[in-house]
Amino acid sequence: MKKINEIIKYLPALPEPLSADVYFAEGENFCYIVDVGNNEQAVQEISSVTKKKIVILSHYHKDHTGNVDKLEYKELYVGDLTYETIQKGIIVTEKMVIQDGIELVIQPCPSPHVKGSLIVTINKEYTLLADLYFTKAGYDKELARQMLQTLEKLDTKYFVVSHQSEKNVFEKQELLERLVNDFFAELSESE
Ligand SMILES: [Zn+2]
Repeated sequence: MKKINEIIKYLPALPEPLSADVYFAEGENFCYIVDVGNNEQAVQEISSVTKKKIVILSHYHKDHTGNVDKLEYKELYVGDLTYETIQKGIIVTEKMVIQDGIELVIQPCPSPHVKGSLIVTINKEYTLLADLYFTKAGYDKELARQMLQTLEKLDTKYFVVSHQSEKNVFEKQELLERLVNDFFAELSESE
């Protein structure tokens, strides 16, 4: 397990089977788990949490959700497409705030990488983006624009991204500038 700050820890992503980062945010009454991974190690880490658990799934891809049937939890929050895929959970359609000694803001966010995604902001400081930041040529520019607008408006300081062993925490403006460049590079080059 690695630490982001005193409240947020995570189990890093691993290949074979591909399993995304699993985040643990410690509230007063609950432990909030964002993404549940897809390997045995993640099942063990999550199951060893003694507090009651609330699980939030960022999107429906198996590396983020594969373990969900192997876990016990009090509540499960998902985006609409995740619900369609795993057939369980409470669908989050608009911004939702949980106060539990810590503040969690769960909200849908457009993404050209994967529709139906949720992002989670903890204490107005760290926003867990999972795979939303993935960029590739040919992505839907309108969705990219909507995503950047949503991220720009967030009351947060850092973005935390999945599947990155070297650096997974970015200052807000740093990642936004990188994304603008990745998505719209050809536009600015032609100027
Ligand atoms: Zn992933």
